Amino acid sequence: VSKNAGRNQFHFFTRSMQEQAWHRITMMGELRNALPRKELQLYFQPVVELASGRVAKGEALLRWMHPQKGMLLPSEFIALAEESGLIHEFGNWVFMQASAWSKRWTELTGTLFQVSVNASPVQFMQRKRALHWGRYLSELGLAWNSMSVEITEGVLFNTSSSTAEQLLDMRDAGIQVAIDDFGTGYSSMAYLKRFDVDYLKIDQSFVRGTAPNSTRRTIAETIIVMAHKLGLKVIAEGVETPEQRDWLQHAGCDFGQGYLFSQPVPPEEFEQLLSLHSPAVSGR
Ligand code: C2E
Ligand code: MG
Ligand code: MG
Ligand code: MG
Repeated sequence: VSKNAGRNQFHFFTRSMQEQAWHRITMMGELRNALPRKELQLYFQPVVELASGRVAKGEALLRWMHPQKGMLLPSEFIALAEESGLIHEFGNWVFMQASAWSKRWTELTGTLFQVSVNASPVQFMQRKRALHWGRYLSELGLAWNSMSVEITEGVLFNTSSSTAEQLLDMRDAGIQVAIDDFGTGYSSMAYLKRFDVDYLKIDQSFVRGTAPNSTRRTIAETIIVMAHKLGLKVIAEGVETPEQRDWLQHAGCDFGQGYLFSQPVPPEEFEQLLSLHSPAVSGR
């Protein structure tokens, strides 16, 4: 009996592996066609200046409108894009689209409207990408700090010359740098100074679902103080309640992002948020 059970298990296991492999191959093929078939779309989430409550910036978040499965989130396809190398193409597309929206929203609001994009560590393995992005910005006639790129702490720790070179090139091109999900990795303040980072984004886990006087809040408060001493601005992620917003504002945090203000929305909807919150637009 046990022998049979073992064999059945083995059979079951291999079949599920085959299914997984098939699923991956199918997804990979579909992902390859996603850009030419115009299935990729950018959503935007507002970044709110806590002191004034105005929408100060926007973060671009990638979505894949799959013809059968509907809207897929990055967690369902970014890893595959990284493995296949498609992430380079996707990343360039995201940067160009987001730049165009920054240009439009800058014109609409009458003040520089910065848009941020996320970049995965894999993208930093390709040399000279930053120069290319910098050139694209000048072609569009965008101001030097119109765009910011969000990277994770791991990218700062990567000692490869190509990564360091790209970060510095990006800085030279006037692209700002934000450290995403701060507090979840090694969090070395020394690296922040070395690459002259502009923003720290405190990870959601220090904000969402936290209780007053909790350790996580104490850590967040400490990050805010240290970041300010180093001349960085701080953005808190995962702000879901007014109480969290008030605590962050009191702790001196500069910006907040989260469902309290808005979920990520398509650009047309984002533009409505802008006109509701910005006097320059609603006054027209
Ligand atoms: P991230 O950059 O840390 O983005 C924040 C994520 O938290 C987004 O998920 C956003 O929808 C979600 N979020 C925002 N506010 C709240 C809140 O109040 N509560 C909760 N529960 N969640 C909130 P999303 O869009 O699924 O993106 C997940 C991750 O995928 C991003 O994390 C980013 O690392 C990555 N990603 C997104 N777009 C791109 C892209 O164009 N390229 C690359 N390489 N990665 C991307
Ligand atoms: Mg981000
Ligand atoms: Mg994050
Ligand atoms: Mg993240």
